[in-house]
Amino acid sequence: MNQNFPSSQPAVFIDRDGVLNIEAGYIHHVNDLHLIPGVANAVRRLNDLEIFSCLVSNQSGPARDYYPVSHVEALHQRLCQLLQAEAGAHLNALYYCPYLSPPEGGTNPEFSLWSTWRKPNTGMLVAAAWEHNLDLSQSFMVGDKATDVDMAHNAGCCGILVQTGFGRSVLSGAYQHHTQPDYIATDLAAAVAWICEQLGKL
Ligand SMILES: [Mg+2]
Repeated sequence: MNQNFPSSQPAVFIDRDGVLNIEAGYIHHVNDLHLIPGVANAVRRLNDLEIFSCLVSNQSGPARDYYPVSHVEALHQRLCQLLQAEAGAHLNALYYCPYLSPPEGGTNPEFSLWSTWRKPNTGMLVAAAWEHNLDLSQSFMVGDKATDVDMAHNAGCCGILVQTGFGRSVLSGAYQHHTQPDYIATDLAAAVAWICEQLGKL
């Protein structure tokens, strides 16, 4: 055993649409991406505590032929710029899944496939853990969909549902399916406050 192997760290995984930025369906124009109030400060709080924060997002636009991967990257560039401008905040890593199976609506042959990266599968979390030495059993996933909570549980993470985006519709039973989050938070800022408590970092 390699004694020099650094101990792995917890992470906070954060969904994009409806958690960081205002849910607006498929965003075809970069300038239509807007942060939810308070999220930049919430990410900054994680940064200040040196807690690894990582975006994990299903982005099936390329598979649906709505726009190319370069557009998803441009949206992420704007997201990062807004976080930086508002609170000097940054994400430590960003993962997204551009793939979608044909039965689910994938039409662009390059991206129309079953992928272990598509939530609620755990591929993005496993890749992040492998590449950044993260301890998934000590990590948190913050999302606004049942599939975010499902992915968290599939990977052994703590699953937090926020009430922004689709969160309230999930809780009322109007959207997706029933899920049992480990914690329900008003928004990302409230989720981060709870996470800091759990990690003993107040
Ligand atoms: Mg979402």
